[in-house]
Amino acid sequence: MFTKILIANRGEIACRIIKTARAMGVQTVAVYSDADANALHVKMADQAVHIGPSPAADSYLQMDVLIDAAQQTGAQAIHPGYGFLSENPDFAQKIADNGMVFIGPSPESIRQMGLKDRAKELMEIANVPVVPGYHGQNQDPVFLAAEAVKIGYPVLIKARAGGGGKGMRLVENPVDFETLLQSAQREGLASFGDAHVLIEKFIQSPRHIEVQVFGDTHGNVVHLFERDCSMQRRHQKVIEEAPAPNMPVDLRTAMTDAAIKAAKQIDYYGAGTIEFIVDGSGPLRADGFWFMEMNTRLQVEHPVTEAVTGTDLVAWQLHVASGAALPLKQNEITLNGHAFEARIYAEDPTADFKPAPGTLSSLQFNTDARIDTGVETGDVVSPFYDPMIAKITTHADDRQTALNALVDGLQNTFAAGTPTNLGFLSRLATDPDFATAKLDTGLIERKMDTLSSVPNTSDFDLLCAIITTHDIDLNAPHLGWQMWQAPAVNTAFDECGNVSLIINADTITVGETNFTRVIRNADQITATTNNTQHRATTTVAGNTVTIKSAADAKTLTIPAPLDVAAGADENSDQIIAPMTGTVTLVHVDVGDTVTMGDPLVVMEAMKMEHVLTAPRDGTIDQIFCTQSSATSEGTILVTLVEIDA
Ligand code: ADP
Repeated sequence: MFTKILIANRGEIACRIIKTARAMGVQTVAVYSDADANALHVKMADQAVHIGPSPAADSYLQMDVLIDAAQQTGAQAIHPGYGFLSENPDFAQKIADNGMVFIGPSPESIRQMGLKDRAKELMEIANVPVVPGYHGQNQDPVFLAAEAVKIGYPVLIKARAGGGGKGMRLVENPVDFETLLQSAQREGLASFGDAHVLIEKFIQSPRHIEVQVFGDTHGNVVHLFERDCSMQRRHQKVIEEAPAPNMPVDLRTAMTDAAIKAAKQIDYYGAGTIEFIVDGSGPLRADGFWFMEMNTRLQVEHPVTEAVTGTDLVAWQLHVASGAALPLKQNEITLNGHAFEARIYAEDPTADFKPAPGTLSSLQFNTDARIDTGVETGDVVSPFYDPMIAKITTHADDRQTALNALVDGLQNTFAAGTPTNLGFLSRLATDPDFATAKLDTGLIERKMDTLSSVPNTSDFDLLCAIITTHDIDLNAPHLGWQMWQAPAVNTAFDECGNVSLIINADTITVGETNFTRVIRNADQITATTNNTQHRATTTVAGNTVTIKSAADAKTLTIPAPLDVAAGADENSDQIIAPMTGTVTLVHVDVGDTVTMGDPLVVMEAMKMEHVLTAPRDGTIDQIFCTQSSATSEGTILVTLVEIDA
């Protein structure tokens, strides 16, 4: 076994590899870009080497820099993780040329499976069923259009070098063929430097089922059963599970046999995944699956396989790379129970899943589920890389129990500071079709409106927000004793305007709702209405408060303090109320000369006094408020003119 390895990656996968290496007594070297100087993988590793500026092209994709770092630290092998250089045959070759080991397959295997057309040719030779279509060399548009007709519409055009759903176009109607062909070619060229395409029959109601394979350098190849990755958005996996639900025994045998044949065809060693597309329009059948592609690396979703087979696939990778035989024989690998994985991202489901980099002001996993993450509270989800926050994996004896655990884990995971897809994942995990395993790759798209619609801010959300931002002590003895006058807290949030919270004897009223048994325990708040208990976790970061309840996470913004806002624009002629409140004092009269920083108006809002100061020197031109005028956000209070005007 190696004594030291370098991990040419970052984030959760780097941390995950470090954990196994440490357990095996193998030292680890992390690498990091400028953006990652304080990243978790750097803290976890035994050593760390800076490899360049933040953009991946200048750091994590710099082969020579990575190889130098490995040599300088005395690492004997390099683990590429997934993404970045993990499927780059030149990197694998260079590592070998420099006398080290690439923890992955041979450069030749990567090359053979790197292009979808070549891979399909090899699979035909190996007698593995491939999706009907054209994957030859002729790229003449007229010829390709004729092939599409032969295959039968709808067809899928795929860039042969494509990945991650890029360079792929569904064509439903022959009149659109030429335009969509050009757009697939353009994307293929722009993203992968290769405009070459293939055409496939589009399988209706497809399921994506993939088989985990593993080979060693002694010629052994085994499979570790299948994963179902049909829950996809724009061809990207969202929730994965193992085994595939409703999998007939004969289909499992046919698929795992085909996967082993595929791996053997290219003398494969290391971890690999054979992806199949399966006809899900009716019950699954042994003749209803076709090879799509092979991924010659460890997959993001490998934890579900680890859960149901009780293996550590990174440990297997290290064994195989160091020349050992596979730890288990085929008949020793068994399938136990059911597992799910969900990918938690910093992205905004209400804005077409736009990546939402930012600082995670709070990140808590209040769950027993397996968590793979590369960030912790206070860390930044960087705009330079994939905005993944964590993967959550659950395992139980049966699908329903594992799914319940997933829902529970998602609902008890708390992230504040950036929008996340946690609410979206919870809604997907509780979707009735998903729950009853009526799966196909179009499910998410069909239900997108429901899945991505965020529930309105509830009175309970507001209750939590006010209690937290005003730090209301629910155990204070005077609470509820002032029967003659219900104490009220009036406040405002940018997202929903004015809100009041009224405390009566044993109820707290917010909006239309009366809450009883309101309990605050650190950052957890519970309250009861109509015999239903609500629960949420809250966190304040800067001028925002995030309330995470079972339904979703809500972030509300406390309007910026007035003195800060008023002083913000030095050239401004106007002093504007930046939040709703009451004017408690006007310091100036029309015609007064003021200098920058002089107090002009005092406002009270959210129980706090805010002084609005002169943004620059000037003469008071007009005053639009008097003491105790109620003022709403955005109102002009005072205007200035130049002193000599
Ligand atoms: P990429 O390499 O870009 O990820 P794949 O070939 O792996 O592309 O396909 C990605 C996804 O696209 C699959 O998981 C499946 O959902 C869908 N897909 C691919 N080929 C077909 C097909 N022939 N018919 C229907 N859907 C397909």
